[in-house]
Amino acid sequence: MKDSIGRTINYLRISVTDLCNFRCVYCMPAEGVKPREHSEMMRFEEIVQVVRVAAENGISKIRLTGGEPLVRHGIVDLVRMIRQVSGINEITITTNGLLLAKYAEALKDAGLTRVNVSLDTLKPDLFKKITRYGELATVWQGIEAAEKHGLLPLKLNMVMVAGINDNEIPDFMNLTMQNAWHVRFIELMPIQNQVSWGDGFPDPSECYISTGAVLERYQHMNLKPVYQPEQLGPAKLYQLPGARGFVGFISPLDDDHFCSRCNRLRLTADGNLRPCLMSDFEVPLLNAIRSGEDISVLIEKVIKQKPVRHELILNHTPENRNMMQIGG
Ligand code: SAM
Ligand code: SF4
Repeated sequence: MKDSIGRTINYLRISVTDLCNFRCVYCMPAEGVKPREHSEMMRFEEIVQVVRVAAENGISKIRLTGGEPLVRHGIVDLVRMIRQVSGINEITITTNGLLLAKYAEALKDAGLTRVNVSLDTLKPDLFKKITRYGELATVWQGIEAAEKHGLLPLKLNMVMVAGINDNEIPDFMNLTMQNAWHVRFIELMPIQNQVSWGDGFPDPSECYISTGAVLERYQHMNLKPVYQPEQLGPAKLYQLPGARGFVGFISPLDDDHFCSRCNRLRLTADGNLRPCLMSDFEVPLLNAIRSGEDISVLIEKVIKQKPVRHELILNHTPENRNMMQIGG
């Protein structure tokens, strides 16, 4: 289905939980978030019903996210259920990787296409500091398990935080020399995270670094733009000479054309459909499903209301949810 300015909307990101086994400083408060009542959460059958109707309206790609999707009990069953929906030809997960070694094989068997792992540093101490809980070695085992079980191409997502991990950008790029991975650098977004992150972190307002600044700083690495006849997804792709993998930049703030390529909707864990990560507008689906209403018209309404440009560009930050309640 096309939105009001002709963008084809074929991708639905589904947050399956607000809960997480990490507390990344730029995403979650140290104390976590209050768990929702069970009855407020979408049950698997309800998620699948949304997927079915969305597929009838042109959605063909699904990404499961969170919070941390792998902490949702039965996540492998959900993947299997979504896989069976006619019209869905790709199902992926974005995960912090902590439980990936445990689930990679079962996820592949259930029909998962591939996986994105969020990883902000290659230094164990800093990893623990950023995530407040994480063990880098365990995540690394998850990455290896994903490779072994064919959840490919593996994508690593690094949020660039100035003064904290930006000096590791070359090390991350170099991972693509030996590995056929996509290593993607994401600009930090100021969504409900402009309060102190704790000892050893700069003021959050000083932590943003633009893709443009990074590309200029690392010019000497000779990144070559990759020709993308039709850019699929938000990342602009580059390659190091002789590399097996790709380097991507995701620039919601620094790229004026970011929104013109947006093809996605977002479903929150409590059943609200959003046309844009960075706008508070959302349409509740859960009660409609539970009372047997046709949600097709609601999905159509959300697609038609998709903003031309996101609100951070217009200097307004979304207020009703933080990142892990939307799913990134
Ligand atoms: N827990 C999973 C994970 O970390 O991959 C999935 C949910 S997380 C909200 C999805 C993505 O959003 C992660 O790659 C994370 O790094 C990114 N993210 C969270 N807060 C962000 C922020 N303020 N700016 C940019 N990216 C952010
Ligand atoms: Fe959890 Fe992902 Fe947010 Fe980190 S980025 S706190 S892993 S939801």
